[in-house]
Amino acid sequence: MSLTDLTIAQARDGLRAKEFSAVDLTMAHLHAIEALNPRLNAFITVSHAQAVDRARIADAALAAGEQRALTGIPLAIKDLFCTEGVRTTAGSKILGPFVPPYESTVTANLLRDGAVFLGKANLDEFAMGSSNMTSAYGPVENPWKRKQDGTAVLVPGGSSGGSAAAVAARLAMGATGTDTGGSIRQPASFCGLVGVKPTYGRCSRWGVVAFASSLDHPGPFARTVRDSAILLGSMAGHDPKDSTSANVAVPDFEAACARGVKGLRIGVPKEYRSDGMPAEIDALWQQGLDWLRQAGAEIVDVSLPHTKHGLATYYIVAPAEASSNLARYDGVRFGARDGGEDLRDLYERTRAEGFGPEVRRRILIGTYVLSAGYYDAYYLKAQKIRALILKDFTDAFAGVDALLTPTAPSAAFAQGENMDDPIKMYLNDLFTVPANLAGVPAASVPVGLDANGLPLGLQVIGKRFDEETVFAVSAALEQAAGFSALPAIRAGG
Ligand code: GLN
Repeated sequence: MSLTDLTIAQARDGLRAKEFSAVDLTMAHLHAIEALNPRLNAFITVSHAQAVDRARIADAALAAGEQRALTGIPLAIKDLFCTEGVRTTAGSKILGPFVPPYESTVTANLLRDGAVFLGKANLDEFAMGSSNMTSAYGPVENPWKRKQDGTAVLVPGGSSGGSAAAVAARLAMGATGTDTGGSIRQPASFCGLVGVKPTYGRCSRWGVVAFASSLDHPGPFARTVRDSAILLGSMAGHDPKDSTSANVAVPDFEAACARGVKGLRIGVPKEYRSDGMPAEIDALWQQGLDWLRQAGAEIVDVSLPHTKHGLATYYIVAPAEASSNLARYDGVRFGARDGGEDLRDLYERTRAEGFGPEVRRRILIGTYVLSAGYYDAYYLKAQKIRALILKDFTDAFAGVDALLTPTAPSAAFAQGENMDDPIKMYLNDLFTVPANLAGVPAASVPVGLDANGLPLGLQVIGKRFDEETVFAVSAALEQAAGFSALPAIRAGG
């Protein structure tokens, strides 16, 4: 077995037992990146020298008998997290050569726990997208292939497409992502990974380039539920630098994975059963419910009546916040600048040159719904519906411990598909956005393959700050599903 195939939990044991060194582990991943990244385009920046330095420090710590949660574990960091001294692009030309003078809180927490950063992972521009096709640094290839039509290049999902492709192809053992409307869970589903969006406030947003501040959630990608629990345990925690960071203790998520589901009540939201759902996704969902029942859970029907308005609400609130957050890219303070005749000309040229079409579309929608004449009709109404969506979850969770739904309405699609129709692309977020609007934790777990041999995930949604139950249910699904299929393109494959 190659070092790149190990899980984080296995690598931790191997490092402790001195079966291999942290430098060995990091070099194995850097070699894999060298071989496969030119094709997959999962990384925008590879920080080779820094990774080797950190691996050496990890080896020194291990030799001194010190091992933290992630000592020597090589990770990919979504290029939306500011990393001190390492270029951060947010997938946009407008940040140009920006090198942050500080480290985001989440990545600082990972470094504190001994992690090694391999580089910055590709993403949709400013995390706006479901395919990684909007990145100014080019699309990412999904390492999975269709059985029929094996030449089609598939998208890894988005916006955290580079993170997902890197972990699936064994270029990194785990990765950070951010999820504003599904950007961790949907790519996890498309790439056969576990992806976790924790409770809003669980992971600090400080130093994460803002998309829609009330919806942005940092979280982990990994190949197992346990690995994702280890990563989240390190990433989470109160941060006074983020006013929405919650001052609550971080439980032992890894231990929660072994709790089992005996006696838990699992809700099935009937509104998620849409007419257009592909039969194989519905079948997998029923299979997931059966597995949980066999493991001792009770399955209960619940109703989330406002779910049908989730997507419309999201695509008003998210662009509104984005238009305001992205006002700061004016060519004066950060990144790229396209000079002009006067100040106004400089703003216009810089923003016209620096932002791609999807980002421009969002800024236009956002400024429209926030404008004096339309604020009440759109933005205010969306906020009211958002409150009702939250209430739906509160009511449902009065009777159940967690919910089970599909993660996405399809498996990975091909590059170029859905591109001509933004609404079709937005439909990808149908099942994921409600959890962002409500701020409740949710995970995607790979449970099977479709007829084309592509991975499909199921989504577990939990109560606010009850990630432990989300991990317990996710681990039970993982165990029952025994998902062991491998992507066509991977290190050592
Ligand atoms: N696909 C959604 C969007 O385009 C979600 C993106 C995200 O979660 N960052 O906004």
